[in-house]
Amino acid sequence: MRKELARSMAWSSRGEHTSITVNPTPMNANKSMQWMDRGSCRNFPPAVFFPQDGAGVERARAICAHCPVKNECLEYALEHHIDHGVWGGCSERERRRIAKRRRLEHTIQPN
Ligand code: SF4
Repeated sequence: MRKELARSMAWSSRGEHTSITVNPTPMNANKSMQWMDRGSCRNFPPAVFFPQDGAGVERARAICAHCPVKNECLEYALEHHIDHGVWGGCSERERRRIAKRRRLEHTIQPN
């Protein structure tokens, strides 16, 4: 389940379990994490979403593709700057690209 991932999340790039990196504030925790209860990943081991190779990323993406909370998941990962794992069907690299594109769009918007 993704909520468990968010609480205990923390796999380094070498697959080691490390300290927590996601910690929504108590005020917005309920609202910001309710979507996790509906994630398709709740029926899979957390390690599936922290793949070590491209084939693993594709497997996670295939699960995310039909997830009813895919958009919420991606936005959560972007908002909390989550570095590791597949969230919202996007790998770390894809999320970095999205974040960069959004920063650029934000800086070039007319007043
Ligand atoms: S998009 Fe993927 S990682 Fe996110 S909740 Fe759905 S199945 Fe889980």
